[in-house]
Amino acid sequence: MELATPFKEIIEEIKEVGGESFKVCYQCGKCDVVCPWNKVTNFSIRKIVRQAALGLPEIELDDIWRCSTCGNCPAKCPRGVEQIEVGVAIRRIAAAYDVFPGAASTLPAVSASLASDGNPLGEERDCRTDWAKGLNIKPYTEGMEILYFVGCYYSYDPRNQKVARATAKILEKAGVDFGILGTKESCCGESIRKVGNEDAFKMLAKENIKAFIDAGVKRILVSSPHCYHTFRNEYSEFMMNLEVVHITQYLAELIEAGRLEVGGEFNRRVAYHDPCYLGRHNGVFDAPRSVLRKLPGVDLVELPDHREDSLCCGGGGGRIWMHTDKEERFGDIRLAQARDVGASVLVTSCPYCISNFEESRLGLPDDDPLTIRDLTEVVLEALDGTDAEVAK
Ligand code: SF4
Ligand code: SF4
Repeated sequence: MELATPFKEIIEEIKEVGGESFKVCYQCGKCDVVCPWNKVTNFSIRKIVRQAALGLPEIELDDIWRCSTCGNCPAKCPRGVEQIEVGVAIRRIAAAYDVFPGAASTLPAVSASLASDGNPLGEERDCRTDWAKGLNIKPYTEGMEILYFVGCYYSYDPRNQKVARATAKILEKAGVDFGILGTKESCCGESIRKVGNEDAFKMLAKENIKAFIDAGVKRILVSSPHCYHTFRNEYSEFMMNLEVVHITQYLAELIEAGRLEVGGEFNRRVAYHDPCYLGRHNGVFDAPRSVLRKLPGVDLVELPDHREDSLCCGGGGGRIWMHTDKEERFGDIRLAQARDVGASVLVTSCPYCISNFEESRLGLPDDDPLTIRDLTEVVLEALDGTDAEVAK
């Protein structure tokens, strides 16, 4: 495909789809310095912002699909450029032209699966509640205390299903009157929006909002920071303003209220990884740490890049659906950091982080003691020594 010439039309198109902040960039390059990609290869979001300003986006190349929307560069930009919005605007143009090169070639299948079955994993809608078999979880009905919005990876991905099961068991132990939407739940749409498929995002948002209203939902509990982000910050575009709480916050709330009695111990050195969409994008740093500190036996240590400076796992911005070469995985760096601080458990609270870290863990020697856990799995084990169903 030929490179687009400096089109005023392209510049206008990028502005129109939300990427107009490129005009204030003065090319200082601070964004490239903080971008995690530059720990593993050469990548320049500064260059992409410049190309947007010139109307020369290279939509035929892989680079526009690299950004994991981690939020580190907008947080550090001295000019307030919204690099993520610029990148998403270019992706929207590429998607409109049906141009999905290299790693992005998986995206049409993801969109098709979302359209047909409401999830990005190519799974059937009817199987959305398979994770809950044997747990006696009720459908949400009006008047219940909270709706547990499970999310796609926790519903279908075998590793993350264990997190959903741990969550449900904790809620049961705390006596929470909760229910789920079952097959009426659809993907939140956060990540498909970041790869430029605005129509799919709108369709999913409307389906979910209708399901919330029909069921009389007042308060929503989510496990994924991506659901949390989009319900909290993006569904308001459709006039949805229901209360949304992330599981890390809800656990802190249940412990504080005395509804969860921690009877067991978790005698391990634990490092907590801040997921980008929970921490940097939404400021939830303290709740997960406060929960870990309440668990007897936990020795909580910090990783070198933590809180606002957390290292992205590489799964946001739709990257979870794209292939990343082994030598370019941020997860490998994160696991090395966890081992350097002497942690035997790397704890997080996001399905993309869990998936990427487990993949990186496969590269460790068999006798390496480092394990990957969701916060709920640690809490469940500490509550009463219950097997949290987690393989090493
Ligand atoms: S940090 Fe901001 S101003 Fe500097 S090059 Fe990047 S986008 Fe432009
Ligand atoms: S948002 Fe994160 S991954 Fe994307 S360009 Fe900025 S620093 Fe890099």
